[in-house]
Amino acid sequence: MEFKDIQKAVAETASAAGKKAGDIANKAKIRFALANMQSDLDELYEKLGKLYYQSFATGTNNSAKESALISKIESLKTDMEILRAEIGLYPKSSRECPVCGKSVPKNAEFCPFCGKEI
Ligand SMILES: [Zn+2]
Repeated sequence: MEFKDIQKAVAETASAAGKKAGDIANKAKIRFALANMQSDLDELYEKLGKLYYQSFATGTNNSAKESALISKIESLKTDMEILRAEIGLYPKSSRECPVCGKSVPKNAEFCPFCGKEI
């Protein structure tokens, strides 16, 4: 599932308005999406590890491929953080955005919700 599809699904469910059952179904959807994204992330890390290994072992220059993988990983991680926040899964590593009040990752430089620099 693409992230934009997930967002769409979330928006659709949210617009179906404040029903508790909807909330629970929505959370389940997000959890499912997060699990999928986590395995995508693990795969990307594995690919990256192999590339690094190859670079060092054989002196191949894989830096273009490596940067491409790293930016994929970064954007996936950001997407996952947004989804985690959506379902209130921000345990110790979160704080409140001073502008919109939503829970954001502790190390975030910008609020993923309102875009303000934190
Ligand atoms: Zn904010």
